[in-house]
Amino acid sequence: METSSKSNYGDQIKSLLEHINGANAIVVGAGSGLSASAGFRHYYERDETFLKYFSEFEKKYGYHSTFDGFYYRYRTSEERWAFLAKQLFCMLDAPTGEPYKHLHDLLADKEYHILTTNLDAQFERVFPAEKISAIQGDCRYFQCGHRCHDELYDSVQIVHSLNNAIDADLNVPTDLIPHCPECGAEMEPWMRSRVFLEGRKYRGEYTKLNDFLRKNRNKNMLFLEIGVGRMTPMFIQEPFWNMTYALPQAFYITVNPKDAYLPKELENKGLAIREDIAEVLIDTKKLAENGK
Ligand SMILES: [Zn+2]
Repeated sequence: METSSKSNYGDQIKSLLEHINGANAIVVGAGSGLSASAGFRHYYERDETFLKYFSEFEKKYGYHSTFDGFYYRYRTSEERWAFLAKQLFCMLDAPTGEPYKHLHDLLADKEYHILTTNLDAQFERVFPAEKISAIQGDCRYFQCGHRCHDELYDSVQIVHSLNNAIDADLNVPTDLIPHCPECGAEMEPWMRSRVFLEGRKYRGEYTKLNDFLRKNRNKNMLFLEIGVGRMTPMFIQEPFWNMTYALPQAFYITVNPKDAYLPKELENKGLAIREDIAEVLIDTKKLAENGK
């Protein structure tokens, strides 16, 4: 894998800023790499956050990331909810990531919309909700585990109560486990899973995106992909490639330290920046400020 030289990096940052400034409309597509660049790597790594929140879980269960913790087969609901409460609490308790703030500064006076597969509600800390489409769920909500009705419930209070009640054996009290008020089934976090509720809220997320695309499709559009991995290309990457290819005035930029890839068909309509996301955002922001 070739690494870009310093001057090449400078050119790429310059080009990124020019495209941001030159676009009439920007669609940002962000995946877990953006949160990883903010220091939240516990989904896939045994990072500081994992050790801070999950070292007892690691001792008891032997997993080393919250991704593995989520898919672990717990023997009881009390054990599983102790993990879920800790995982959700860890996201709610996290500071706002610096790269999110820098991205916000770069987009501040632009026409933009954000499409994200991230569940950690980091975007909501710094961007208005009407400009965000979170299509894989959001840690701030629960749904019925049986999807018996189309309603999402605020998870924040319940998560705090559960998290405070985790005992030394990593169980939560049975009576604190949230249940559906309609059918009595256990609730589930509103996150992509076998039972993910694709109801009114989910469709609304796509409506916001589609309205933005419809309004801006004939303008000078930038599709800016940040930290989208190769695991689920159908949610952001492939639609971005297809739209850039199909729309005459569209341009595509991907920023990713490992997976930045430009399809051959987009060679003249795209740019792949294979660099650290946090650095790219801060350097682009600095360049923008110097130019003012
Ligand atoms: Zn139900």
